[in-house]
Amino acid sequence: MSKQVKAWGATSPEKTEPITITRRAPDDEDVGIDIKYAGICHSDIHTVRSEWREISYPLVVGHEIAGVVSTVGKNVTRFKVGDHVGVGCMVNSCRQCSNCHDGEEQYCSSNLVLTYNSKDPKDGSITQGGYSQYIVVDQAFVLRVPESIPLDKAAPLMCAGITLYSPLNHWNAGPGKTVGIIGFGGLGHMGVKLAKALGSEVTVFSQTNSKKELGFQLGADDYVATSDPDVFSRLSQKFDIIINTVSAEIPLDLYLSCLRRDGTLVQVGAPKDQLRISPHSLYARRIGVNGSMIGGIAETQKMLDLCGEKLIFPEIETIPASYIDEAYERVMKSQVQFRFVIDISTM
Ligand code: NAP
Ligand code: ZN
Ligand code: ZN
Repeated sequence: MSKQVKAWGATSPEKTEPITITRRAPDDEDVGIDIKYAGICHSDIHTVRSEWREISYPLVVGHEIAGVVSTVGKNVTRFKVGDHVGVGCMVNSCRQCSNCHDGEEQYCSSNLVLTYNSKDPKDGSITQGGYSQYIVVDQAFVLRVPESIPLDKAAPLMCAGITLYSPLNHWNAGPGKTVGIIGFGGLGHMGVKLAKALGSEVTVFSQTNSKKELGFQLGADDYVATSDPDVFSRLSQKFDIIINTVSAEIPLDLYLSCLRRDGTLVQVGAPKDQLRISPHSLYARRIGVNGSMIGGIAETQKMLDLCGEKLIFPEIETIPASYIDEAYERVMKSQVQFRFVIDISTM
């Protein structure tokens, strides 16, 4: 049976409010999940403010979902009622293209179904995200949350965690590698923890020194405030990998000057504006500029298992649903340490 559930939806670019949405009846492959916590990703804000493209309101966003299985379809083998599970940015894909075959469903070339604002091939509706009490997801896109990870802290791993883990993994961060993380926010702080757990040396590039102590507490080996122009000459040609998590345009040539020969800048931040890079920054030391989007399902599970084993958790501030608009304002001012997580029981 389909189900009416409470949710918190964006009704305009400036406002979220309580609404009711309908979740489809679970089919044989589906898992019904009672959502307990949902993280607030900056992508939620870009989306509801129509910064990437115009959206139709109301829309329920949220793709850092953690909850408990409450129903399973008859073909569901991987989950049972009561299991702790998570859902990230995608809820389906074509499963046939070469990218899906390679376990890189996030790059599906034919039909990637995002957790919100995509057309759901199962019922033709527009997908609605995790700021809600319940969701129905095909078992192939549901993640197991290890017992050692509390559900509130599991939520941000579903996007912020995997979005940093995947490029670190792909570009071989590990012992002997120097990693720079630009932007010490939701994604950035997970980058510090994960790069450290993989054995690399990590430097935080933040706008100011206001989070310096926290940076060292979370494992950074160095922390610089980019408001001081001298940092770029001090860190010249130091890094193998720099990951840019910033949600706005920044002067990338300065950061490229900090890469060694054959170093890589990985763009994960998704500002609405174009990136500008001088060709001289690239050819000087065979520099690579790449992008990375979340990670595949198997890779996300691997990241969750690693976080469960090494007890790598995000730093969170738990909020009631009624605080979402204020939380968005604080994210815009970088006034959160480091991820807001909505307690869905407050809906
Ligand atoms: P966030 O918590 O707001 O973190 C972004 C950080 O960037 C801020 O904490 C701030 O760090 C820095 N920053 C913000 N504005 C800046 C400016 N004008 N100049 C310099 N630095 C600035 O956001 P998030 O949730 O981590 O997401 C970051 C970006 O990644 C967003 O654009 C989001 O859409 C994107 N994203 C991409 C993927 C993907 O798969 N590629 C996945 C998730 C999110 P300091 O305070 O340290 O300066
Ligand atoms: Zn996200
Ligand atoms: Zn595909």
